Amino acid sequence: MINNSDVLKNLSFEEKGIINLLQKNEYMTRNDISIKTNIKLSRLNYIMQPLEKSRVIIQGKIGESSGGRKPILYTVNLDDFYIIGVDISIMYTQIVITNLKMEILFEELFHMDNTCTPEKTVNRITEIIEKAYVNLKLYRFKLLGIGVGSVGPLNVENGIIKNPPNFYAPNWLNVPLKSMLEERLKTTVIVENGANAGVVAESLFGIGKGLKNVTYFNCGVGIRTGTISSRNLIRAINDEEEGFGHMVIDINGEQCKCGNFGCIECYSSINAIIKKFSNEIKKGRHTIINKSIDDINYKDICMASEQNDELSKEIIRNAALILGAGLANYIKLLTTDLVILSGPLMIQSKLFYDICVESALRRLHPDKKKRVIFNRCGYFKDTAMSVGAAAMVVEKYLS
Ligand SMILES: [Zn+2]
Repeated sequence: MINNSDVLKNLSFEEKGIINLLQKNEYMTRNDISIKTNIKLSRLNYIMQPLEKSRVIIQGKIGESSGGRKPILYTVNLDDFYIIGVDISIMYTQIVITNLKMEILFEELFHMDNTCTPEKTVNRITEIIEKAYVNLKLYRFKLLGIGVGSVGPLNVENGIIKNPPNFYAPNWLNVPLKSMLEERLKTTVIVENGANAGVVAESLFGIGKGLKNVTYFNCGVGIRTGTISSRNLIRAINDEEEGFGHMVIDINGEQCKCGNFGCIECYSSINAIIKKFSNEIKKGRHTIINKSIDDINYKDICMASEQNDELSKEIIRNAALILGAGLANYIKLLTTDLVILSGPLMIQSKLFYDICVESALRRLHPDKKKRVIFNRCGYFKDTAMSVGAAAMVVEKYLS
């Protein structure tokens, strides 16, 4: 039996162009496709025939007629090709299964604790995928591959997680994630950094569709950044995604785990916020949160801020002001049309997002201010990194 991934291997330049177009747009007529791809209609018929035969593209609805016979509309096959996306973050691992248009068919998440070593994490991912195959009645031959968006630094080419600093469990050192998953799941696996996956999802299928310059920030335990500039993914050395978080914002500031002083992450990460909050409590400040200091988490602080808890509001405001200043620096350096602010810091606190944007805008030149759009959590919300990792599997075939 032919695997569906084989159908997408060895496509010609023109075939890739047609699939790309139909994957990222609504239904199209042959005429539309001909105009967009610059392929003459007579030649287009010849190229589309094998694609229809292998059922990558299919005839969909009948279109509106401008007099005469109604034109046939085409789209990509949404039933027979699927992709798995995995987001390995410090606090959770999420698995999604999508179709070719990146619509989510399945989604599951587990929290990462101090027992989630690489071995255990890979085992759980495998179990969840195996269970989903059965429950969704998915045939393995229809799978195009697995994309993983992970915390870095990484060796993307070989799919190795190098030495991420923040995991709660031990043994996250030079983890051959790609080969571990390929061995267990018998399919092609690509590993990317999660923020790159997030920006790919949003710029190809989400809120940044059609824009040339998009930046995606995932703010949580660390601050992870993915940037598309002039439609190209910008890659940092070692495929790191944490560079922005270690931008120095105060030369006389606190010492960061990276060794430097005054990095953004020292002030505007989940850990920094919790630490500053408990320090204030230890000094005798009042809060409405009725928990012992060691049990207070970021969500508690966000909820208390919504109930007007002065200390919670103050801590969130200070953290967001600093992140906003860092954002302004970043936007001044790069031409950015859209800044998506996502991740737990933004998802759980509208106050954090609002203050952060206000702080960034205040520091921007009026010309830049007019140009840049801010968005809270994008189109894909908390699934951007897993969906983006899946999208990158398809992009590999189509690029
Ligand atoms: Zn640092």
